[in-house]
Amino acid sequence: EKPVKEDQASIPKVTYEDIGGLEEEVKKVREMIELPLRHPELFERLGVEAPKGVLLHGPPGNGKTLLAKAVAGETNANFITIGGPEIMSKFYGESEERLREIFKQAEENAPSIIFIDEIDSIAPKREDVSGETERRVVAQLLSLMDGLEARGKVVVIGATNRPNAIDPALRRPGRFDREIEINPPNKDGRLEILQIHTRGMPLESEVSLEELADLTHGYVGADLSALCKEAAIRSLRRILPDLDLEMESIPIEVLNKITVKREDFFSALREMQPSALREVLVEK
Ligand code: ATP
Repeated sequence: EKPVKEDQASIPKVTYEDIGGLEEEVKKVREMIELPLRHPELFERLGVEAPKGVLLHGPPGNGKTLLAKAVAGETNANFITIGGPEIMSKFYGESEERLREIFKQAEENAPSIIFIDEIDSIAPKREDVSGETERRVVAQLLSLMDGLEARGKVVVIGATNRPNAIDPALRRPGRFDREIEINPPNKDGRLEILQIHTRGMPLESEVSLEELADLTHGYVGADLSALCKEAAIRSLRRILPDLDLEMESIPIEVLNKITVKREDFFSALREMQPSALREVLVEK
């Protein structure tokens, strides 16, 4: 296991423009996280503490990570990720040591966002766990959050799809005391997500993203992103037989003819199950 590297902190290039749907969610994130990061003086003036921790919860693939990165990108904040499962170490004291280093790094490089993915895996309810490590890690996380000094300049975002599995002590005031539910997209949200993920694609005019948004009920953001990629690959497969791959580089006239067609999306759709359905199928 490697120690925390300096270069783990960086400002993501993601913006709110990269997020489809989730309008209400973005609004809440801006108010709860962006405002205090940008203007801690507002909270000082009001005599209230800026939120230190915000919990994003909801099913996988709907953009929790994306949203967290976008706030960091928009506020020029360093983004430091803690992968829930990865931080758990069998060696006594090592996980806590890593947490302390990450918090220190965040404070030194403030403004910062510490993103804890799958926070339920590092901070499960203490009564539910048998392992000593989990108990110590939860305690360490609590004390680090209580000790955060850079008022408003370091925000911890936790993501989980099982909010009720995390230790209740973490959800008390001064810790993860704000929660935002990140829901699967409706038709309009799906349309926006499809628009975002086809932004750079040469789409044939017959491709109707409206139609695709209609047909993809149950698809989350990650599914729609995969669908667009798969359609693009299929368009390549369609023209591949006509290409001379031995060529040094493909001539621009040939490149210009490459487009993604409606049939590419439909052929991709036929082979893809939305994650919502996959989960249902697995459970049965
Ligand atoms: P997990 O719980 O699996 O980590 P998550 O909710 O954090 O899921 P992300 O990792 O943010 O989901 O989403 C995966 C990818 O799916 C994103 O990188 C993005 O390409 C796409 N995606 C998901 N949601 C959206 C969205 N609302 N708008 C645009 N793209 C999205």
